[in-house]
Amino acid sequence: MYLKNEKETHAILIGAGIMSATLAVILRRLNPDIKITMYERLDQVSCESSDAMNNAGTGHSGFCELNYTPEDQNGEIDITKAVKVASEFEISKEFWAYLIETGFIKDPKVFIRRIPHMSFVWGEDDVNFLEKRWKKMIQHPLFKEMKFSKDREQLKEWIPLIIEHRDKQQPIAATRMEIGADVNYGALTRTYVLNLLNENGVILHLAHEVLDLKREGEKWQLKVRNLTTGRKTEPVADFVFIGAGGAAIQLLDKSGIEEAEGYGGFPVSGEWLICNNEDIIKRHSAKVYGKAKIGAPPMSVPHLDSRMINGKLNLLFGPFAGFSTKFLKNGSYWDLPLSIAWSNIKPMIAVGLHNIPLTKYLIEQVTQNKEDKIESLKEFFPDAKYEDWDESIAGQRVQIIKKDEKEGGILEFGTEIVDSADGTIAALLGASPGASTAVYIMLDLLEKCFPENAKEWTPEIQKMIPSYKNDHIDAQYIEESRKRTSRLLGWEMQKITPQEKYKPA
Ligand SMILES: Cc1cc2nc3c(=O)[nH]c(=O)nc-3n(C[C@H](O)[C@H](O)[C@H](O)COP(=O)(O)OP(=O)(O)OC[C@H]3O[C@@H](n4cnc5c(N)ncnc54)[C@H](O)[C@@H]3O)c2cc1C
Repeated sequence: MYLKNEKETHAILIGAGIMSATLAVILRRLNPDIKITMYERLDQVSCESSDAMNNAGTGHSGFCELNYTPEDQNGEIDITKAVKVASEFEISKEFWAYLIETGFIKDPKVFIRRIPHMSFVWGEDDVNFLEKRWKKMIQHPLFKEMKFSKDREQLKEWIPLIIEHRDKQQPIAATRMEIGADVNYGALTRTYVLNLLNENGVILHLAHEVLDLKREGEKWQLKVRNLTTGRKTEPVADFVFIGAGGAAIQLLDKSGIEEAEGYGGFPVSGEWLICNNEDIIKRHSAKVYGKAKIGAPPMSVPHLDSRMINGKLNLLFGPFAGFSTKFLKNGSYWDLPLSIAWSNIKPMIAVGLHNIPLTKYLIEQVTQNKEDKIESLKEFFPDAKYEDWDESIAGQRVQIIKKDEKEGGILEFGTEIVDSADGTIAALLGASPGASTAVYIMLDLLEKCFPENAKEWTPEIQKMIPSYKNDHIDAQYIEESRKRTSRLLGWEMQKITPQEKYKPA
Protein backbone atom coordinates (compact mmCIF):
# COMPACT_ATOMS: atom_id res chain seq x y z
CA MET A 1 0.00 0.00 0.00
CA TYR A 2 0.99 3.66 -0.33
CA LEU A 3 0.95 5.52 2.94
CA LYS A 4 -0.26 9.07 2.31
CA ASN A 5 1.04 11.91 4.37
CA GLU A 6 -2.41 12.89 5.60
CA LYS A 7 -3.58 13.56 9.10
CA GLU A 8 -6.24 10.81 9.02
CA THR A 9 -3.82 8.02 8.12
CA HIS A 10 -4.19 5.24 10.61
CA ALA A 11 -2.20 2.18 11.47
CA ILE A 12 -3.34 -0.29 14.08
CA LEU A 13 -0.70 -2.37 15.79
CA ILE A 14 -1.95 -5.46 17.64
CA GLY A 15 0.16 -6.22 20.71
CA ALA A 16 2.58 -4.04 22.65
CA GLY A 17 5.76 -6.13 22.47
CA ILE A 18 9.14 -5.23 20.99
CA MET A 19 7.99 -5.79 17.38
CA SER A 20 4.98 -3.41 17.38
CA ALA A 21 6.89 -0.85 19.43
CA THR A 22 9.87 -0.91 17.04
CA LEU A 23 7.56 -0.52 14.04
CA ALA A 24 5.77 2.40 15.69
CA VAL A 25 9.05 4.20 16.47
CA ILE A 26 10.35 3.75 12.92
CA LEU A 27 7.06 4.78 11.27
CA ARG A 28 6.78 7.89 13.41
CA ARG A 29 10.38 8.93 12.57
CA LEU A 30 9.57 8.54 8.85
CA ASN A 31 6.12 10.10 8.92
CA PRO A 32 5.55 12.28 12.02
CA ASP A 33 1.91 12.77 10.97
CA ILE A 34 0.93 9.12 11.03
CA LYS A 35 -1.64 8.21 13.66
CA ILE A 36 -1.03 4.90 15.35
CA THR A 37 -3.27 2.99 17.73
CA MET A 38 -1.91 0.03 19.70
CA TYR A 39 -4.11 -2.61 21.35
CA GLU A 40 -2.66 -4.81 24.09
CA ARG A 41 -4.68 -7.54 25.84
CA LEU A 42 -2.62 -7.43 29.05
CA ASP A 43 -2.78 -4.50 31.46
CA GLN A 44 0.91 -3.69 30.95
CA VAL A 45 3.24 -3.22 28.01
CA SER A 46 5.69 -5.97 27.08
CA CYS A 47 4.72 -8.73 29.52
CA GLU A 48 4.85 -11.65 27.08
CA SER A 49 8.00 -12.83 25.23
CA SER A 50 9.59 -9.37 25.23
CA ASP A 51 9.70 -9.19 29.03
CA ALA A 52 13.24 -9.62 30.38
CA MET A 53 12.52 -12.76 32.41
CA ASN A 54 10.67 -14.37 29.51
CA ASN A 55 13.61 -14.30 27.08
CA ALA A 56 17.38 -14.72 27.33
CA GLY A 57 18.28 -11.08 26.68
CA THR A 58 21.00 -11.99 24.22
CA GLY A 59 21.79 -9.44 21.56
CA HIS A 60 22.20 -12.23 19.02
CA SER A 61 25.33 -11.42 17.02
CA GLY A 62 26.51 -14.84 15.86
CA PHE A 63 29.43 -14.62 18.30
CA CYS A 64 28.52 -17.47 20.65
CA GLU A 65 25.59 -19.40 19.12
CA LEU A 66 27.19 -22.57 17.77
CA ASN A 67 24.01 -23.58 15.93
CA TYR A 68 24.57 -20.61 13.57
CA THR A 69 27.83 -22.17 12.30
CA PRO A 70 27.07 -25.78 11.31
CA GLU A 71 29.77 -28.17 10.12
CA ASP A 72 29.00 -30.15 6.96
CA GLN A 73 29.93 -33.77 6.24
CA ASN A 74 33.28 -32.69 4.76
CA GLY A 75 34.17 -30.84 7.94
CA GLU A 76 33.58 -27.38 6.38
CA ILE A 77 32.11 -24.77 8.72
CA ASP A 78 29.45 -22.53 7.23
CA ILE A 79 29.39 -19.07 8.85
CA THR A 80 26.71 -17.55 6.57
CA LYS A 81 23.99 -17.46 9.24
CA ALA A 82 26.37 -16.01 11.86
CA VAL A 83 27.34 -13.21 9.42
CA LYS A 84 23.65 -12.49 8.66
CA VAL A 85 22.63 -12.32 12.32
CA ALA A 86 25.71 -10.25 13.27
CA SER A 87 24.96 -7.74 10.47
CA GLU A 88 21.32 -7.49 11.56
CA PHE A 89 22.32 -6.80 15.17
CA GLU A 90 24.68 -4.04 13.98
CA ILE A 91 21.55 -2.48 12.39
CA SER A 92 19.80 -2.57 15.77
CA LYS A 93 22.81 -0.91 17.43
CA GLU A 94 22.92 1.82 14.76
CA PHE A 95 19.21 2.52 15.28
CA TRP A 96 19.55 2.68 19.07
CA ALA A 97 22.62 4.94 18.67
CA TYR A 98 20.50 7.27 16.50
CA LEU A 99 17.68 7.32 19.08
CA ILE A 100 20.19 8.14 21.82
CA GLU A 101 21.86 10.85 19.71
CA THR A 102 18.50 12.48 18.95
CA GLY A 103 17.34 12.32 22.58
CA PHE A 104 14.49 9.83 22.09
CA ILE A 105 16.30 7.38 24.39
CA LYS A 106 17.80 9.19 27.36
CA ASP A 107 19.73 6.46 29.16
CA PRO A 108 20.98 3.35 27.33
CA LYS A 109 21.92 1.69 30.65
CA VAL A 110 18.21 1.06 31.21
CA PHE A 111 18.14 -1.55 28.45
CA ILE A 112 21.63 -2.52 27.34
CA ARG A 113 25.12 -3.28 28.61
CA ARG A 114 28.19 -4.81 27.07
CA ILE A 115 28.99 -8.36 28.18
CA PRO A 116 31.43 -10.85 26.63
CA HIS A 117 29.75 -13.51 24.48
CA MET A 118 31.49 -16.87 24.81
CA SER A 119 31.15 -20.39 23.45
CA PHE A 120 32.40 -23.12 25.76
CA VAL A 121 32.88 -26.78 24.77
CA TRP A 122 34.33 -29.95 26.24
CA GLY A 123 35.54 -33.21 24.67
CA GLU A 124 38.15 -33.54 21.94
CA ASP A 125 35.75 -33.41 18.96
CA ASP A 126 34.00 -30.27 20.11
CA VAL A 127 37.30 -28.59 21.02
CA ASN A 128 38.57 -29.29 17.48
CA PHE A 129 35.29 -27.98 16.06
CA LEU A 130 35.54 -24.76 18.07
CA GLU A 131 39.15 -24.13 17.04
CA LYS A 132 38.30 -24.69 13.38
CA ARG A 133 35.26 -22.42 13.68
CA TRP A 134 37.38 -19.71 15.32
CA LYS A 135 40.04 -19.89 12.58
CA LYS A 136 37.34 -19.39 9.96
CA MET A 137 35.44 -16.68 11.80
CA ILE A 138 38.41 -14.39 12.49
CA GLN A 139 38.89 -14.05 8.71
CA HIS A 140 35.64 -12.06 8.66
CA PRO A 141 35.74 -8.40 9.79
CA LEU A 142 32.64 -8.91 11.97
CA PHE A 143 34.46 -11.50 14.06
CA LYS A 144 38.11 -10.58 13.71
CA GLU A 145 38.40 -9.70 17.40
CA MET A 146 37.28 -13.15 18.51
CA LYS A 147 39.65 -14.81 21.00
CA PHE A 148 40.18 -18.54 21.43
CA SER A 149 41.80 -20.45 24.26
CA LYS A 150 42.39 -23.99 25.46
CA ASP A 151 44.60 -22.77 28.28
CA ARG A 152 43.03 -23.61 31.66
CA GLU A 153 44.57 -20.60 33.42
CA GLN A 154 43.25 -18.24 30.78
CA LEU A 155 39.82 -19.89 30.85
CA LYS A 156 39.75 -19.69 34.65
CA GLU A 157 40.28 -15.95 34.44
CA TRP A 158 37.47 -15.60 31.94
CA ILE A 159 34.92 -18.01 33.47
CA PRO A 160 36.04 -19.15 36.94
CA LEU A 161 32.74 -20.85 37.88
CA ILE A 162 32.90 -23.05 34.80
CA ILE A 163 36.55 -24.09 35.16
CA GLU A 164 36.95 -24.58 38.93
CA HIS A 165 36.65 -28.22 40.09
CA ARG A 166 36.36 -29.48 36.52
CA ASP A 167 37.98 -32.80 35.59
CA LYS A 168 41.58 -31.83 34.72
CA GLN A 169 41.83 -34.51 32.02
CA GLN A 170 38.81 -33.18 30.11
CA PRO A 171 39.82 -31.24 26.95
CA ILE A 172 38.10 -27.83 27.06
CA ALA A 173 38.11 -24.65 24.98
CA ALA A 174 36.28 -21.35 24.64
CA THR A 175 35.94 -18.41 22.29
CA ARG A 176 35.22 -14.90 23.46
CA MET A 177 33.98 -11.67 21.88
CA GLU A 178 34.20 -8.69 24.19
CA ILE A 179 31.52 -6.62 22.46
CA GLY A 180 28.54 -8.88 23.10
CA ALA A 181 25.31 -7.37 24.38
CA ASP A 182 22.98 -8.11 27.28
CA VAL A 183 19.66 -6.51 26.39
CA ASN A 184 16.52 -5.97 28.47
CA TYR A 185 14.00 -6.00 25.62
CA GLY A 186 11.15 -5.40 28.06
CA ALA A 187 12.72 -2.16 29.32
CA LEU A 188 13.48 -1.11 25.73
CA THR A 189 9.85 -1.71 24.69
CA ARG A 190 8.56 0.30 27.64
CA THR A 191 10.98 3.14 26.83
CA TYR A 192 9.79 3.16 23.22
CA VAL A 193 6.09 3.13 24.16
CA LEU A 194 6.35 5.75 26.91
CA ASN A 195 8.19 8.14 24.60
CA LEU A 196 5.75 7.47 21.74
CA LEU A 197 2.84 8.32 24.02
CA ASN A 198 4.40 11.74 24.56
CA GLU A 199 4.13 12.35 20.81
CA ASN A 200 0.80 13.54 19.55
CA GLY A 201 -0.73 10.80 17.41
CA VAL A 202 0.01 7.56 19.26
CA ILE A 203 -2.67 5.94 21.40
CA LEU A 204 -2.30 2.80 23.51
CA HIS A 205 -5.24 0.76 24.79
CA LEU A 206 -4.19 -1.65 27.52
CA ALA A 207 -6.44 -4.57 28.55
CA HIS A 208 -8.01 -4.52 25.08
CA GLU A 209 -8.11 -7.77 23.16
CA VAL A 210 -8.45 -7.91 19.39
CA LEU A 211 -10.97 -10.67 18.75
CA ASP A 212 -11.37 -10.54 14.99
CA LEU A 213 -10.58 -8.56 11.85
CA LYS A 214 -12.04 -8.30 8.39
CA ARG A 215 -11.71 -6.25 5.24
CA GLU A 216 -14.08 -3.31 4.92
CA GLY A 217 -13.59 -1.83 1.42
CA GLU A 218 -9.98 -0.67 1.25
CA LYS A 219 -9.65 -0.66 5.03
CA TRP A 220 -9.57 -3.20 7.86
CA GLN A 221 -12.17 -3.37 10.57
CA LEU A 222 -11.26 -4.93 13.91
CA LYS A 223 -13.42 -6.26 16.73
CA VAL A 224 -11.89 -5.23 20.03
CA ARG A 225 -13.07 -6.05 23.55
CA ASN A 226 -12.24 -3.85 26.52
CA LEU A 227 -11.35 -6.52 29.08
CA THR A 228 -12.16 -4.24 32.02
CA THR A 229 -15.64 -3.11 30.98
CA GLY A 230 -16.54 -5.84 28.47
CA ARG A 231 -17.45 -3.13 25.92
CA LYS A 232 -16.79 -3.96 22.27
CA THR A 233 -15.63 -1.49 19.58
CA GLU A 234 -14.96 -1.81 15.86
CA PRO A 235 -12.06 0.48 14.93
CA VAL A 236 -11.02 0.87 11.28
CA ALA A 237 -7.53 1.26 9.84
CA ASP A 238 -5.68 1.56 6.53
CA PHE A 239 -2.92 -0.72 7.76
CA VAL A 240 -2.78 -3.44 10.41
CA PHE A 241 0.30 -5.04 11.91
CA ILE A 242 -0.30 -8.25 13.83
CA GLY A 243 2.49 -8.09 16.42
CA ALA A 244 0.72 -10.47 18.77
CA GLY A 245 3.73 -12.72 19.37
CA GLY A 246 2.70 -16.38 19.60
CA ALA A 247 -0.95 -15.43 18.99
CA ALA A 248 -0.16 -13.79 15.63
CA ILE A 249 -0.88 -17.06 13.82
CA GLN A 250 -4.49 -17.12 15.10
CA LEU A 251 -5.23 -13.52 14.11
CA LEU A 252 -3.57 -13.99 10.74
CA ASP A 253 -5.87 -16.93 10.12
CA LYS A 254 -8.89 -14.79 11.10
CA SER A 255 -7.85 -12.10 8.57
CA GLY A 256 -8.74 -14.60 5.82
CA ILE A 257 -5.96 -13.40 3.47
CA GLU A 258 -4.93 -16.12 1.07
CA GLU A 259 -1.23 -15.67 1.94
CA ALA A 260 -2.04 -17.05 5.43
CA GLU A 261 -3.13 -20.44 4.14
CA GLY A 262 -1.21 -23.51 5.23
CA TYR A 263 0.56 -21.90 8.20
CA GLY A 264 0.48 -23.57 11.59
CA GLY A 265 2.29 -23.04 14.87
CA PHE A 266 4.24 -25.33 17.17
CA PRO A 267 4.71 -23.96 20.70
CA VAL A 268 7.93 -24.55 22.65
CA SER A 269 8.02 -23.24 26.19
CA GLY A 270 11.08 -22.36 28.24
CA GLU A 271 12.28 -22.72 31.83
CA TRP A 272 15.20 -21.21 33.73
CA LEU A 273 17.29 -22.01 36.73
CA ILE A 274 17.89 -18.69 38.50
CA CYS A 275 20.72 -18.34 41.01
CA ASN A 276 19.77 -16.97 44.44
CA ASN A 277 23.30 -16.81 45.87
CA GLU A 278 24.83 -13.30 45.53
CA ASP A 279 28.42 -14.57 45.93
CA ILE A 280 28.02 -16.85 42.93
CA ILE A 281 26.14 -14.28 40.83
CA LYS A 282 29.03 -11.81 41.21
CA ARG A 283 31.62 -14.33 40.01
CA HIS A 284 30.22 -14.82 36.52
CA SER A 285 30.57 -12.06 33.98
CA ALA A 286 29.70 -13.38 30.51
CA LYS A 287 27.06 -15.08 28.40
CA VAL A 288 28.37 -18.60 27.82
CA TYR A 289 26.70 -20.79 25.21
CA GLY A 290 27.33 -24.53 24.80
CA LYS A 291 26.58 -27.05 22.09
CA ALA A 292 23.04 -28.28 21.52
CA LYS A 293 22.12 -31.88 22.31
CA ILE A 294 20.85 -34.10 19.46
CA GLY A 295 17.24 -33.24 18.60
CA ALA A 296 17.29 -29.98 20.58
CA PRO A 297 15.55 -27.08 18.86
CA PRO A 298 18.25 -24.51 17.98
CA MET A 299 16.89 -21.86 20.36
CA SER A 300 17.05 -24.20 23.35
CA VAL A 301 20.83 -24.40 23.64
CA PRO A 302 21.45 -23.89 27.35
CA HIS A 303 23.65 -21.01 28.42
CA LEU A 304 24.98 -19.57 31.64
CA ASP A 305 24.33 -15.86 31.55
CA SER A 306 25.05 -12.86 33.68
CA ARG A 307 22.01 -10.57 33.20
CA MET A 308 21.27 -7.05 34.38
CA ILE A 309 17.52 -6.80 34.88
CA ASN A 310 15.99 -3.59 36.18
CA GLY A 311 19.23 -2.59 37.92
CA LYS A 312 19.81 -6.00 39.55
CA LEU A 313 22.53 -8.45 38.57
CA ASN A 314 21.23 -11.99 37.92
CA LEU A 315 22.64 -15.35 36.89
CA LEU A 316 20.42 -17.56 34.73
CA PHE A 317 20.91 -21.00 33.24
CA GLY A 318 18.70 -22.30 30.44
CA PRO A 319 16.35 -22.11 28.72
CA PHE A 320 15.29 -25.73 29.11
CA ALA A 321 12.73 -26.52 26.44
CA GLY A 322 9.27 -27.63 27.41
CA PHE A 323 5.96 -28.31 25.78
CA SER A 324 2.70 -26.51 26.39
CA THR A 325 -0.22 -26.11 24.01
CA LYS A 326 -0.44 -22.36 24.80
CA PHE A 327 0.66 -19.83 22.18
CA LEU A 328 1.24 -17.14 24.80
CA LYS A 329 2.46 -17.50 28.40
CA ASN A 330 -0.87 -15.91 29.37
CA GLY A 331 -2.72 -17.84 26.69
CA SER A 332 -5.12 -20.79 26.69
CA TYR A 333 -4.42 -24.55 26.58
CA TRP A 334 -6.87 -24.59 23.65
CA ASP A 335 -4.55 -22.43 21.49
CA LEU A 336 -2.85 -25.33 19.69
CA PRO A 337 -5.89 -27.60 19.24
CA LEU A 338 -8.05 -24.71 17.99
CA SER A 339 -5.36 -23.62 15.52
CA ILE A 340 -5.65 -26.88 13.58
CA ALA A 341 -7.70 -26.42 10.40
CA TRP A 342 -8.15 -28.14 7.02
CA SER A 343 -5.65 -25.74 5.45
CA ASN A 344 -2.78 -26.64 7.82
CA ILE A 345 -3.52 -30.17 9.01
CA LYS A 346 -1.33 -31.80 6.31
CA PRO A 347 1.79 -29.69 7.06
CA MET A 348 1.23 -30.21 10.80
CA ILE A 349 1.07 -34.01 10.51
CA ALA A 350 4.10 -34.04 8.18
CA VAL A 351 6.11 -32.00 10.67
CA GLY A 352 5.16 -34.41 13.48
CA LEU A 353 6.32 -37.39 11.41
CA HIS A 354 9.59 -35.78 10.25
CA ASN A 355 10.70 -34.47 13.64
CA ILE A 356 10.88 -37.56 15.81
CA PRO A 357 14.26 -36.55 17.41
CA LEU A 358 12.72 -33.17 18.38
CA THR A 359 9.63 -34.90 19.85
CA LYS A 360 11.87 -37.28 21.83
CA TYR A 361 13.98 -34.37 23.03
CA LEU A 362 10.91 -32.39 24.17
CA ILE A 363 9.49 -35.41 26.03
CA GLU A 364 12.84 -35.83 27.78
CA GLN A 365 12.92 -32.12 28.69
CA VAL A 366 9.33 -32.01 29.95
CA THR A 367 9.95 -34.95 32.28
CA GLN A 368 13.04 -33.29 33.85
CA ASN A 369 12.72 -32.30 37.49
CA LYS A 370 14.90 -29.78 39.32
CA GLU A 371 17.55 -32.43 40.17
CA ASP A 372 17.89 -33.30 36.46
CA LYS A 373 18.23 -29.62 35.59
CA ILE A 374 20.94 -29.17 38.22
CA GLU A 375 22.79 -32.14 36.65
CA SER A 376 22.71 -30.32 33.26
CA LEU A 377 23.91 -27.15 34.97
CA LYS A 378 26.82 -29.09 36.51
CA GLU A 379 28.15 -29.78 33.00
CA PHE A 380 28.74 -26.01 32.89
CA PHE A 381 29.25 -25.21 36.55
CA PRO A 382 30.61 -28.32 38.31
CA ASP A 383 30.15 -26.87 41.83
CA ALA A 384 26.44 -25.99 41.37
CA LYS A 385 24.34 -26.68 44.48
CA TYR A 386 20.61 -27.49 44.45
CA GLU A 387 19.73 -24.88 47.10
CA ASP A 388 21.42 -22.00 45.24
CA TRP A 389 19.02 -22.22 42.28
CA ASP A 390 15.28 -21.62 41.79
CA GLU A 391 13.11 -22.68 38.88
CA SER A 392 11.22 -20.12 36.81
CA ILE A 393 9.03 -20.19 33.69
CA ALA A 394 10.21 -18.29 30.59
CA GLY A 395 8.14 -17.19 27.58
CA GLN A 396 6.42 -19.22 24.88
CA ARG A 397 7.86 -19.41 21.37
CA VAL A 398 5.64 -20.51 18.54
CA GLN A 399 7.69 -22.00 15.71
CA ILE A 400 6.35 -21.74 12.17
CA ILE A 401 4.90 -24.77 10.42
CA LYS A 402 4.35 -24.25 6.70
CA LYS A 403 3.52 -26.16 3.54
CA ASP A 404 6.38 -27.73 1.67
CA GLU A 405 6.02 -29.39 -1.74
CA LYS A 406 8.56 -32.14 -1.03
CA GLU A 407 8.01 -32.87 2.66
CA GLY A 408 4.32 -31.92 2.96
CA GLY A 409 5.19 -29.57 5.79
CA ILE A 410 8.29 -28.11 7.46
CA LEU A 411 9.11 -26.65 10.85
CA GLU A 412 10.99 -23.35 10.66
CA PHE A 413 13.00 -21.88 13.49
CA GLY A 414 13.37 -18.37 12.07
CA THR A 415 10.94 -15.48 11.74
CA GLU A 416 8.77 -14.65 8.76
CA ILE A 417 6.60 -11.72 7.74
CA VAL A 418 3.36 -12.81 6.08
CA ASP A 419 1.71 -9.91 4.27
CA SER A 420 -1.23 -9.45 1.91
CA ALA A 421 -0.56 -8.72 -1.76
CA ASP A 422 -1.84 -5.12 -1.33
CA GLY A 423 0.37 -4.56 1.73
CA THR A 424 -2.51 -3.49 3.97
CA ILE A 425 -1.89 -6.16 6.59
CA ALA A 426 1.16 -8.03 7.86
CA ALA A 427 1.93 -10.44 10.66
CA LEU A 428 5.18 -11.51 12.21
CA LEU A 429 5.46 -15.25 12.81
CA GLY A 430 8.24 -17.16 14.57
CA ALA A 431 10.63 -16.01 17.25
CA SER A 432 14.27 -16.55 16.41
CA PRO A 433 16.70 -14.74 16.47
CA GLY A 434 13.82 -12.55 17.57
CA ALA A 435 13.99 -9.29 19.45
CA SER A 436 17.66 -8.63 18.55
CA THR A 437 16.72 -8.27 14.91
CA ALA A 438 13.42 -6.40 15.37
CA VAL A 439 14.77 -3.32 13.55
CA TYR A 440 15.92 -5.35 10.54
CA ILE A 441 12.60 -7.24 10.47
CA MET A 442 10.56 -4.03 10.57
CA LEU A 443 12.63 -2.45 7.76
CA ASP A 444 11.87 -5.56 5.74
CA LEU A 445 8.17 -5.11 6.57
CA LEU A 446 8.26 -1.49 5.34
CA GLU A 447 9.74 -2.62 2.02
CA LYS A 448 7.08 -5.31 1.65
CA CYS A 449 4.04 -3.31 2.72
CA PHE A 450 4.98 0.23 1.63
CA PRO A 451 7.21 -0.29 -1.43
CA GLU A 452 6.60 3.18 -2.84
CA ASN A 453 7.16 4.96 0.46
CA ALA A 454 10.23 2.83 1.12
CA LYS A 455 12.00 4.38 -1.87
CA GLU A 456 11.19 7.92 -0.66
CA TRP A 457 12.19 6.99 2.86
CA THR A 458 15.61 5.50 2.00
CA PRO A 459 17.65 8.70 2.65
CA GLU A 460 15.85 9.21 5.99
CA ILE A 461 16.38 5.58 6.98
CA GLN A 462 20.06 5.92 6.08
CA LYS A 463 20.36 8.86 8.47
CA MET A 464 19.09 6.57 11.23
CA ILE A 465 20.87 3.43 10.08
CA PRO A 466 23.93 4.22 7.95
CA SER A 467 24.40 0.56 6.92
CA TYR A 468 20.90 0.41 5.36
CA LYS A 469 21.30 -0.35 1.62
CA ASN A 470 24.96 0.56 1.92
CA ASP A 471 27.23 -1.23 -0.59
CA HIS A 472 30.41 -0.09 1.13
CA ILE A 473 30.44 -2.16 4.27
CA ASP A 474 34.01 -3.28 4.75
CA ALA A 475 36.38 -3.87 7.67
CA GLN A 476 36.97 -0.13 8.13
CA TYR A 477 33.23 0.65 8.11
CA ILE A 478 32.54 -2.04 10.71
CA GLU A 479 35.35 -0.80 12.95
CA GLU A 480 34.24 2.83 12.78
CA SER A 481 30.55 1.99 13.15
CA ARG A 482 31.24 -0.18 16.22
CA LYS A 483 33.36 2.60 17.73
CA ARG A 484 30.47 5.03 17.29
CA THR A 485 27.74 2.73 18.56
CA SER A 486 29.87 1.62 21.54
CA ARG A 487 30.42 5.28 22.46
CA LEU A 488 26.72 6.17 22.21
CA LEU A 489 25.57 3.01 24.00
CA GLY A 490 27.90 3.97 26.85
CA TRP A 491 30.03 0.85 26.49
CA GLU A 492 33.31 2.79 26.50
CA MET A 493 32.51 3.96 30.03
CA GLN A 494 31.85 0.42 31.25
CA LYS A 495 34.44 -0.93 33.67
CA ILE A 496 36.69 -3.68 32.27
CA THR A 497 36.42 -6.78 34.45
CA PRO A 498 39.57 -8.76 35.42
CA GLN A 499 38.25 -11.61 33.24
CA GLU A 500 38.78 -9.44 30.16
CA LYS A 501 42.59 -9.72 30.18
CA TYR A 502 43.72 -12.08 27.42
CA LYS A 503 46.78 -14.24 26.96
CA PRO A 504 46.72 -15.73 23.45
CA ALA A 505 46.46 -19.56 23.41
C1 LIG B 1 12.67 -18.55 26.19
C2 LIG B 1 12.92 -17.47 25.17
C3 LIG B 1 14.20 -16.96 25.00
C4 LIG B 1 14.43 -15.97 24.05
N1 LIG B 1 15.67 -15.42 23.97
C5 LIG B 1 15.90 -14.41 23.09
C6 LIG B 1 17.18 -13.78 23.08
O1 LIG B 1 18.06 -14.12 23.85
N2 LIG B 1 17.37 -12.78 22.19
C7 LIG B 1 16.39 -12.39 21.32
O2 LIG B 1 16.65 -11.49 20.53
N3 LIG B 1 15.16 -12.96 21.33
C8 LIG B 1 14.90 -13.95 22.20
N4 LIG B 1 13.66 -14.54 22.25
C9 LIG B 1 12.64 -14.13 21.26
C10 LIG B 1 12.00 -12.81 21.64
O3 LIG B 1 11.62 -12.81 22.98
C11 LIG B 1 10.80 -12.59 20.72
O4 LIG B 1 11.18 -12.70 19.38
C12 LIG B 1 10.19 -11.21 20.89
O5 LIG B 1 10.03 -10.86 22.23
C13 LIG B 1 8.85 -11.19 20.18
O6 LIG B 1 8.28 -9.92 20.32
P1 LIG B 1 6.80 -9.65 19.89
O7 LIG B 1 6.56 -8.21 20.06
O8 LIG B 1 6.56 -10.25 18.53
O9 LIG B 1 5.92 -10.57 20.87
P2 LIG B 1 5.53 -10.38 22.41
O10 LIG B 1 6.56 -9.74 23.21
O11 LIG B 1 5.06 -11.74 22.84
O12 LIG B 1 4.33 -9.38 22.35
C14 LIG B 1 3.08 -9.71 21.77
C15 LIG B 1 2.02 -8.95 22.52
O13 LIG B 1 0.79 -9.12 21.85
C16 LIG B 1 -0.23 -9.20 22.83
N5 LIG B 1 -1.39 -9.86 22.21
C17 LIG B 1 -1.50 -11.14 21.81
N6 LIG B 1 -2.72 -11.36 21.29
C18 LIG B 1 -3.39 -10.19 21.36
C19 LIG B 1 -4.69 -9.79 20.97
N7 LIG B 1 -5.55 -10.63 20.40
N8 LIG B 1 -5.06 -8.51 21.20
C20 LIG B 1 -4.22 -7.62 21.77
N9 LIG B 1 -2.96 -7.96 22.16
C21 LIG B 1 -2.56 -9.22 21.94
C22 LIG B 1 0.43 -10.03 23.92
O14 LIG B 1 -0.23 -9.88 25.17
C23 LIG B 1 1.83 -9.46 23.94
O15 LIG B 1 2.01 -8.41 24.84
C24 LIG B 1 13.38 -15.50 23.22
C25 LIG B 1 12.07 -16.01 23.41
C26 LIG B 1 11.83 -16.97 24.39
C27 LIG B 1 10.46 -17.45 24.60
